[in-house]
Amino acid sequence: MSQYKINTNCVQAGYNPENGQPRVTPIVQSTTYRYTSGEEVGKLFDLEKDGFFYTRLGNPTSDVVEKRIAALEGGVGALFTSSGQAASTLSILNICQAGDHIIAGNAIYGGTFNLFGVTLPKLGIETTFVATDIEEAELEAQFKENTKAVFIESLTNPALEIPDIEMFAKVAHAHGVPLIVDNTFATPINCRPFEFGADIVVHSTSKYLDGHAVALGGIIVDSGNFDWNNGKYPGLSTPDPSYHGIVYTDTFGPAAYITKARVQLMRDLGVTPGPNNAFLLSIGLETLHLRVERHCENATKVAEYLSHHDKIEWVNYPSMKGNKYYPMAQKYMPNGTCGVISFGVKGGREAAMNFMDHLKLAAIVVHVADAKTGVLHPASTTHRQLTDEQLKEAGIGPELIRFSVGIEDVKDIIADIEQALEQI
Ligand SMILES: *Cc1c(COP(=O)(O)O)cnc(C)c1O
Repeated sequence: MSQYKINTNCVQAGYNPENGQPRVTPIVQSTTYRYTSGEEVGKLFDLEKDGFFYTRLGNPTSDVVEKRIAALEGGVGALFTSSGQAASTLSILNICQAGDHIIAGNAIYGGTFNLFGVTLPKLGIETTFVATDIEEAELEAQFKENTKAVFIESLTNPALEIPDIEMFAKVAHAHGVPLIVDNTFATPINCRPFEFGADIVVHSTSKYLDGHAVALGGIIVDSGNFDWNNGKYPGLSTPDPSYHGIVYTDTFGPAAYITKARVQLMRDLGVTPGPNNAFLLSIGLETLHLRVERHCENATKVAEYLSHHDKIEWVNYPSMKGNKYYPMAQKYMPNGTCGVISFGVKGGREAAMNFMDHLKLAAIVVHVADAKTGVLHPASTTHRQLTDEQLKEAGIGPELIRFSVGIEDVKDIIADIEQALEQI
């Protein structure tokens, strides 16, 4: 399928029905698979043969979305997980253990920030957080002997900052470590991190890839480009006792990382998605290219409108000229960034909440990045335990509204904002 363009891959990659087979990806709602020879099953367990044998390790419906998203990102393989959090967790545990260190962007998704800042340290993995716009020399200085990975978001949730992916990749590679990029907000339609040197991509598929807020999921995609034989990754380049001494880099070559994530970590940790969720994701992916284009078109118009409104203090949308990250957006996602924007309502917390309560079309939801327009006031919800002072430090002022622009008619979205602003 990779000979086709990305729009075609959204619709068809990963599933090629043969004569008389279902046109639509079947939901294989089965935990297990029948075999007629015990010897063959033994070979499956020893990884000597390819095939499904237990859904925790692989399922034909999940296989379709894994192949499709690998094609969209340009990778050699992918692993579908039960959530985005599971994908981020496995992406690190696959190459780090107690005593190791990672470097991560400080504006990454709150769940990932907690994972790296609180939970992984309990397992002995330490994180140094760095600013999205860190200078090359300063980034260099953060590396230690035991640094094993660099993790950034191509477009951060919710601050919408864009790191210099090429610079991060260059510095990571100079230290013999891979760059992992969470590409959830940009999606492979707007940004393909492998083209800028990233080695591993992760996603929360719960956002635009699914697109309809129907199923949690995550995915890890392997570029196949990183050399794991540099002495830093014995888990990949020395025998695994749990598979009769298999050496992943010898046996699986460029797919060593993604194979280990599946056969070792998914086997042992079991963060497996259900086949029905894979099916829902496959349907969502079929329109990804159309939806993302419309999300960006609508968000650009909403951002423009807000930037001229006298009740709005500021607007943050990196596709808009004058934004701090506009140059990075032009370099890494010139066709668009995402449908999420944030803005400040004049009058602070009270005005922001008042505005939100008067919206009719835009619903108050914690979720972002799906077809329906949604709005959230972080100061009174996700970040409500913080004081105004602490909110300012976190870059989330009490006046901040996070607005996830959907794919409805943009005139209706703007009219809804207008009537709500009139009432405050
Ligand atoms: C939502 C999100 C996650 C976590 O994904 P879940 O599917 O909710 O577990 C990770 N990264 C980013 C950028 C997200 O927006």
